[in-house]
This record gives sequence, C-alpha cells and structure tokens, in this order.
Amino acid sequence: MAGEPQDDCLFCKIVEGHIPATIVRESETTVAFRDINPQAPTHVLVIPRAHYPSAAELAAAEPMIAADVLREAHAVADEDKLESYRIVFNTGAGAGQTVFHAHAHVMGGRGMQWPPG
Ligand code: 5GP
Ligand code: ZN
Repeated sequence: MAGEPQDDCLFCKIVEGHIPATIVRESETTVAFRDINPQAPTHVLVIPRAHYPSAAELAAAEPMIAADVLREAHAVADEDKLESYRIVFNTGAGAGQTVFHAHAHVMGGRGMQWPPG
C-alpha cells in the first residue's frame, strides 16, 4: 500500500531505528538526520516517515506531509543558524537521486555556485 514501509529501503530502516543515524529533528510525520557523506558543513536530509519513492509522488499523495518536509527543512536551517542555504529534491536517477525514498537535502555553511552540476 502507498506509504507503507519497504523492506529494501535504507531510509525506512532509519525511520524504524534499524540503521543508526544522527537525528537532528523529528516530527509526527518526518525525520531529519545528517547526511553520511556531507557535501557542505550543514548537510541534513529531511524525510517523510511514510515511504514514497520521490518528492513528486509524496506531494501528489500526501501534500500536507510534503509541506511538513519543507517546513522541517527550513527549521533545520534555522537551528544551524544558516543565513543562506539550499533545499534540493533530486528526483530521478538522471538528477542524481540514489535513494528512492523522498528526501530534501538541506545544505549550507559554505558559498554555493549556480547552476549546480
Ligand atoms: P540522493 O542522491 O538520493 O539525492 O541522496 C541520498 C543521500 O543519502 C546521499 O547524499 C547519501 O550520502 C545519503 N546516504 C546514503 N546512505 C546513507 C546512510 O546510510 N545514512 C545517511 N545518514 N545518509 C546516507
Ligand atoms: Zn522508504
């Protein structure tokens, strides 16, 4: 069923506590934790507890939870006192998505270029 935990999903395992992560925020619908391979001084992933393969599918099925993810992403930036930061949803392998459980990257603490590679 849509949103149910998937046995083969790394981020579902983090939500369930079966794989450790450095969790920085939790809400009823979301979990935020530090990326294992940070690309900036702050690099946090915000995920819905429910499993949806991409942000597009999450937004279509559960727009309120998609809004929670976005709100939590900004809260992470506030907590880390970031004046400028980037929130990224890689969507599809061609855009660099490697984990197919919707997630926002919150990145900041260094200068950034535009456009990204
Ligand atoms: P994507 O490439 O799908 O947009 O982002 C997936 C992110 O998950 C990558 O930045 C990667 O470093 C991170 N990641 C992969 N495995 C783990 C893990 O086991 N723990 C944590 N905290 N992050 C992970
Ligand atoms: Zn999942």
